[in-house]
Amino acid sequence: MDTSSAATLYIDGHWSTADSGATFDVTDPSSGKVIGRAADAGAAETERAIAAAAEAFPHWRAQNAYTRATALVRVHELMLERAEELAQLMSLEQGKPLRAARSEVLYGADFLMWFAEEAKRVYGSTIPSPRSNQRLTILRQPVGVVAGITPWNYPVSMITRKVAPAVAAGCTILVKPAEQTPLCAQAVVEIFDEAELPPGVVNLITTSQPAEVGDALLRSRAVRKLTFTGSTEVGKMLAGRATATMKRVSLELGGHAPFIVFEDSDVEHAAKGAALVKFLNTGQACISPNRIYVQRSVIDRFVDVLTDRARRLRPGGGLDESATIGPLIDASALAKMERQVADATQKGARVMTGGERLRGDGLANGYFFAPTVLTEISPAMSIYQEETFGPIAPVIVFDTEDEVVAMANDTDYGLASYVYTNDLARAVRVSEALRFGIVGINDINPTAAAAPFGGTGESGLGREGGAQGIDEYLDVKLVGHVLA
Ligand code: NAP
Repeated sequence: MDTSSAATLYIDGHWSTADSGATFDVTDPSSGKVIGRAADAGAAETERAIAAAAEAFPHWRAQNAYTRATALVRVHELMLERAEELAQLMSLEQGKPLRAARSEVLYGADFLMWFAEEAKRVYGSTIPSPRSNQRLTILRQPVGVVAGITPWNYPVSMITRKVAPAVAAGCTILVKPAEQTPLCAQAVVEIFDEAELPPGVVNLITTSQPAEVGDALLRSRAVRKLTFTGSTEVGKMLAGRATATMKRVSLELGGHAPFIVFEDSDVEHAAKGAALVKFLNTGQACISPNRIYVQRSVIDRFVDVLTDRARRLRPGGGLDESATIGPLIDASALAKMERQVADATQKGARVMTGGERLRGDGLANGYFFAPTVLTEISPAMSIYQEETFGPIAPVIVFDTEDEVVAMANDTDYGLASYVYTNDLARAVRVSEALRFGIVGINDINPTAAAAPFGGTGESGLGREGGAQGIDEYLDVKLVGHVLA
């Protein structure tokens, strides 16, 4: 893959630059160095990509499920062949340590195989009619052209999680990745190209002008579905505007995950789990624990282990094999960490470790923030209310089950939640009471391509992955038939 080229637009089976020749720089967040360029497309290129997807749609939907599945299996094979190359590019462009990048590529590839299999299970059904000479049949048919908008934090898997079900269902798709990670998007789409999907089935538009591209997607009548992963703010705005053309919408938005540790749990194990999932991807994950609630009698033990683990993390660039935590994505992410820590400490929080930007050991030009543990957190602090999206673990003390469930649910978000307990009845009660799309019980990784991922409330609409993931790309059609 040639990252010096700026031909990152893929429209109707051809790679091209922007019409104007404009490009934008892509930087390594661990050093601030420019590592490549991407084509800076606008409305005209977007409209051409939509037209290509619309033209390809009747042909692609007419292919049988086995043909579409075979194409996805081929993409899966190629992605595994290129796994190391993709992981290295991801570490460089997005900053996560290589080990994490390798595991993301495999997670991303899983969606290809999962939806290749699901393509063959788009079953219809028949309904007993109250009239004996009538037959009622349900068909499930592809919605049409899809626009997929993706974030930078999981720059490979967030693309395959949308493209695989769309293509499996018989839809065609245009992907607009985040401007921080266009090279990973290019590398993924190159694999679809190499697998020889027909022109127009998958298209890629890179841009630093998301509003212009977004407008073109939203006003198009040909685009029948918008699938978005990103912030709640942008997701709400896009969803509101998508109603003008009545597009189907699915949204994977922000989170504010509670992580609840009861005194009857294995507290050291819980603290180890909290450290692993909190600092994963430098805290830049929608399912990252944002409010860590620990029962009073075990708080000291928990904080000791969590703090020790945070101190042992080794910050470094993605390609540094010894690094266990990478940089934040950009300067504004760093500024948010500094703001949240300053606000919390002013209002009485205690910094157990970290709390500041890291500049030593060659890190000065990157966006590194020390893995941080804060205690004495109260609801008046911004860190208690806002998604952090960075490596800060705020610990809050609680006394009773009812109290902690009420505190955990006291948010507009509803994506992931975690509970540590060894009391079976409590595990059942609390998992039923939490208003979140995902609950992990003694489990920091309750996700898989085979499982439905998504949130309630302001964390989004719809599900990705699982048997439900393909439904988002299918319309239900009722056929009533009166026998002559
Ligand atoms: P973001 O700022 O909302 O950006 C997401 C995508 O939307 C990017 O491709 C962005 O393009 C694009 N965008 C922004 N404004 C647009 C417009 N007016 N029209 C069309 N597209 C537009 O979010 P982010 O900072 O990249 O991602 C972090 C957020 O994503 C967090 O809140 C996180 O929780 C959430 N997330 C959720 C999930 C989930 O599955 N629920 C998974 C991962 C991340 P530009 O890059 O060019 O601005």
